[in-house]
Amino acid sequence: MTSDDLLARHRAVLPSWMPLYYAEPLELVAGSGRRVTDAAGRTYLDFFGGVLTTMVGHDIPEIREAVERQLRTGLVHTSTLYLIRRQVELAEKIARLSGIPDARVFFTNSGTEANEAALLVATNHRRSHQILAVRNSYHGRSYATMGVTGNRGWSASALNPLQVAWLHSGERLRGLLARLDAADRVDAAVEDLREVLATQTAGEVACLIAEPVQGVGGFVHGPDGLFAAWKKVLDEHGILLISDEVQTGWGRTGEHFWGYQAHGVTPDLLTFAKGIGNGFALAGVVGRAEVLESVPAISFSTFGGNPVSTAAGNAVLDYLLDHDLQGNAARVGAILGDGLRAATAGLDRVAEVRGKGLMLAVEFVHPGTVEPDAALTTRVFEACRAGGLLVGKGGLYGNVIRMGPPLTLTEDEAREGLAILVDAIRASIEA
Ligand code: PLP
Repeated sequence: MTSDDLLARHRAVLPSWMPLYYAEPLELVAGSGRRVTDAAGRTYLDFFGGVLTTMVGHDIPEIREAVERQLRTGLVHTSTLYLIRRQVELAEKIARLSGIPDARVFFTNSGTEANEAALLVATNHRRSHQILAVRNSYHGRSYATMGVTGNRGWSASALNPLQVAWLHSGERLRGLLARLDAADRVDAAVEDLREVLATQTAGEVACLIAEPVQGVGGFVHGPDGLFAAWKKVLDEHGILLISDEVQTGWGRTGEHFWGYQAHGVTPDLLTFAKGIGNGFALAGVVGRAEVLESVPAISFSTFGGNPVSTAAGNAVLDYLLDHDLQGNAARVGAILGDGLRAATAGLDRVAEVRGKGLMLAVEFVHPGTVEPDAALTTRVFEACRAGGLLVGKGGLYGNVIRMGPPLTLTEDEAREGLAILVDAIRASIEA
């Protein structure tokens, strides 16, 4: 069966609201290190890692062997109603690394479920259904997480069942706070929070959910320290802070292990997913015992923290720490980011190269404006593929190229991908 046949069958049976990347959708059949191979036998350098998920790289022996060892036991029997050794071990490590005192960990299968659990905990703890969320955010595809997603393309906001009040993200490119320097943007974002609390909410508010760097939103982030400034106000009202670390966790940003650390504050709840399973379904929520124990009914999960996923998770975390992948993200990310900044300086179609560590984005605009140019972005995206490089697309207006390669990316691979991307940008602007 060809990929074309597969695509026809896909279209006939899967929902049309599930988008596929590329004009000619791509079927990947194999992977090794930072490279993946399609059904036609073509190999690509992978700068997206299945949306920042293949964090350690493809087919890494240590991860594969840990999973195979678990499979060889014959035990894929699951459910949190039984003691699962790998789950306990992984929870201990994550609790220790989380920075949250007296932490408890609840495992889920996806980032969506992790945020869903965090919202359940926070609303029960605070006995309130009012939630603060941030514009341009993405938190998942379920009833509640879509309700706190501030990105029209990904949320059914017209049908929002939740009581949500929206905060400014503190971004600098466009909107009310554009052109302010970082300190003024922190002040303005805090003023915005106070105003929203005073005018858009009534009575108790449960929580604020926010991404330290907005992932799907195009790697947009407010100034460092913003969460700490917000938290001061939140603490005056007893409102909990949930840091959605689904994209920013595990050292991806290079400078810190968690995105929240750039903000000089510890959240009450932290959610994680994507990279920790390196492709196996593994996610969860961490919180202070006093908060996480707020779920009123007993609860369990059939698949959350199952033996196979947590075998992978332990191996991924050990690999990540043993090989200082956070340090590699900082080092190799600087080569990629600095190279990209240098190569695009003076291009009036590039509004900004931004991001941290190995979480880097380029935003495309019409000349001399901040008006998004999604068509140019699509050309760049397709040209990268033609050149043998997989990247991601994103942003509120679909005009951002995103890169989130495995954290094992080498300097040579960074330079190789950079050359393909820069050629793609130049050719697409001239086209
Ligand atoms: N939160 C953030 C910040 C995300 O980027 C995503 C997915 O992209 C999610 C939550 C949802 O995670 P999942 O797709 O595993 O449900």
